[in-house]
Amino acid sequence: MLKQITLTAIFALGLSTAIAAQTTRTTETERALARLGDLAPNAVRRRLNEMRPPAYQPGPVLLNEIIKRQELTVVSGERVERLKASLQPVLAYHKRDGKLPIYVLRSEQPKAFVACRAALIITTKLMLITSEAELRGIVAHELAHEYLWEERERAFEKKDESLLREIELFCDAVAAITLKEIGDDPAHLARALERMTYIGITAGNVTRSETKTHPSLSARLKLNQWLCQRFAQATNLG
Ligand SMILES: [Zn+2]
Repeated sequence: MLKQITLTAIFALGLSTAIAAQTTRTTETERALARLGDLAPNAVRRRLNEMRPPAYQPGPVLLNEIIKRQELTVVSGERVERLKASLQPVLAYHKRDGKLPIYVLRSEQPKAFVACRAALIITTKLMLITSEAELRGIVAHELAHEYLWEERERAFEKKDESLLREIELFCDAVAAITLKEIGDDPAHLARALERMTYIGITAGNVTRSETKTHPSLSARLKLNQWLCQRFAQATNLG
């Protein structure tokens, strides 16, 4: 109980200090974090369990349709199987193991996303530029989108840009917590985001700045760094 209170106090104190020195953009961060309560691991687990929609579990016809729509070649083989195995801890943390098919598609764009809540899609380029732990961070972010799937769809309809960015920050926070919980370094997410952004900039289709749908790279890195520090402090106290 005492430990719980101490952790809560630290998270609350850290957050208000972080917010004090910030602008509108971090209000999005603040709101994103507020969705996860005091950020203590058990509380987050409980919160995510409450928020989690039932797995969609599509049939083969819909899956074929989703993949066909991407207009990219499906890659298979030993390496893909190894990759799928390496992602299992993330899927298990989010209760999606065996429930969300994974497809690797050949593409020069480093991307991962959950299509129609039915399939996790990862491109060969993303596979190539990330370590397994970094990819687990990116995939955790993508799985986190399921928790706010409908809210995000409504935000797109209403063109609520601030809410869209807030949802991205929520997914980044959930991804960092996921990494921490499965025994990876949560900073892997920041490394992957940074590399994906710079490669995207070189390809000419990504920016470091805030967009209508995404926070700036620096806001995302700052949140990750803040969470890493909080986790380290909590561990030291424990
Ligand atoms: Zn996202």
